[in-house]
Amino acid sequence: MADPKGFLTHTQRILPLRRPVSERVGDWNEVYQEFAEDTLREQAGRCMDCGVPFCHTGCPLGNLIPEWNDLVRTGRWREAFDRLHATNNFPDFTGRLCPAPCEPACVLGINQPPVTIKQVEYEIVERGFMQGWAEPIRPSKMTGKSVAVVGSGPAGLAAAQQLTRAGHAVTVYERDDRIGGLLRYGIPEFKMEKRIVDRRLAQMAAEGTVFRAGVNVGVDVTADQLRSDFDAVVLAGGATAWRDLPIPGRELDGIHQAMEYLPWANRVQAGDLSEPPITAHGKKVVIIGGGDTGADCLGTVHRQGGTCVHQFEIMPRPPETRDPSTPWPMYPLIMRTSAAHEEGGDRVFSVNTEEFIGRDGHVTGLRAHEVRRRNGGFEKVDGTDFELEADLVLLAMGFVGPERSALLTDLGVEFTGRGTVARDADFATGVPGVYVAGDMGRGQSLIVWAIAEGRAAAAGADRYLMGKTALPAPVTPTMAPIR
Ligand SMILES: Cc1cc2nc3c(=O)[nH]c(=O)nc-3n(C[C@H](O)[C@H](O)[C@H](O)COP(=O)(O)OP(=O)(O)OC[C@H]3O[C@@H](n4cnc5c(N)ncnc54)[C@H](O)[C@@H]3O)c2cc1C
Ligand code: SF4
Repeated sequence: MADPKGFLTHTQRILPLRRPVSERVGDWNEVYQEFAEDTLREQAGRCMDCGVPFCHTGCPLGNLIPEWNDLVRTGRWREAFDRLHATNNFPDFTGRLCPAPCEPACVLGINQPPVTIKQVEYEIVERGFMQGWAEPIRPSKMTGKSVAVVGSGPAGLAAAQQLTRAGHAVTVYERDDRIGGLLRYGIPEFKMEKRIVDRRLAQMAAEGTVFRAGVNVGVDVTADQLRSDFDAVVLAGGATAWRDLPIPGRELDGIHQAMEYLPWANRVQAGDLSEPPITAHGKKVVIIGGGDTGADCLGTVHRQGGTCVHQFEIMPRPPETRDPSTPWPMYPLIMRTSAAHEEGGDRVFSVNTEEFIGRDGHVTGLRAHEVRRRNGGFEKVDGTDFELEADLVLLAMGFVGPERSALLTDLGVEFTGRGTVARDADFATGVPGVYVAGDMGRGQSLIVWAIAEGRAAAAGADRYLMGKTALPAPVTPTMAPIR
């Protein structure tokens, strides 16, 4: 039972402070300062334990939010840790990286700032790791069945952990040289230090999951081999085909996709090399794309020492507060200022890039103009043309879907009209024993959805192997995206 007066006593929503900008741009560590336990427990005590907890509707994992809020309020951390893991394999990832769709859905948010759900989640899991509670959970008996998981992002890892714990022999294949998907090579160190991924992988390895990095399935291991070596397959290869900007000048040197740029910064932090082959150091940078990937480029540019940086977004500047078109408990489109934005750079909204300009084969700038929305598209605002100097341009305009790789073709899976791998209500592709989870089936999305889908696909695969399953399936493929 929650404190009935908690939200009346503590009306303020308090979040941890970020480290000073001058300090944090000088390193690659995570940006948040420690949060006092007393304050956190007061914040958890603002939860009303609603009869109908709308926060649940916001969370694809169905996290038991009011339960662990109250366990934290009353200092029962170990129980909170277990309840948190009952629905989420990796709260250490979501506690840092999730946009927390549960919070705008919180009932308290109707007339007060919502409960700090994400911070409570973060503190529970961090305390648990510190106390040694994240022990391996080994299966009580093995089933004699084997499963291959292709792709080691959050979807593949969640599926692998569920299936390993269910007693199957699980091998995770990853074409990159390290395990982790976008958690490893994509999301910058300052948003999540890679030791966080490593400690989770250590738990999974101790449970019995086998990891094989540097194996491109479909090339190094053929689809036929995969089918004959394993009883079931979970495809979790992500949506790695990026959207391009085919305008005049695109062929110039110095114009790169965000995912050609960001992984190098991760590799430098991993100690693979001292200087990245693509760096913002001493450069004028323009990032095209105003979303999270663009913000990750921005924070990376700051740390590499770019001399100036602009981030372009074709959409208009969002409102500061919830718009009537996204009423509570919907996820609102509002102006969000990430840590990277706080660190500097100019955000430019309603802008379209028309042409890249260059000299001697290298980009030196771009031509752009303002746009306004019209009939669902964009129209140029006359007289707003401008040029901007740039010697590094980063394209962060999202992803169009999974790559049409040899693996998918050889397996014979079907595709949706959006180019993602088609699946039924059980996350099964049309090919018997082959399941799909995460961005590969859903299209570019969020870590929380990848974990939820990984869990659901694991339940589908387990049912296929055993005729029944006790694994939870929190989502279905037809559930509407929150974001
Ligand atoms: C730069 C960036 C920042 C992001 N930041 C956030 C954030 O802060 N919060 C958030 O919620 N979401 C964020 N996202 C989105 C989030 O990372 C993805 O939605 C999520 O990682 C998808 O998980 P996944 O497991 O489906 O795929 P991925 O994480 O993409 O992993 C797929 C893996 O499969 C591997 N693979 C593909 N094909 C094969 C093959 N044939 N053989 C072997 N391996 C293969 C790939 O190499 C890759 O490592 C971000 C995305 C990007 C690009
Ligand atoms: S909706 Fe908000 S106040 Fe209600 S149970 Fe969920 S977190 Fe607590």
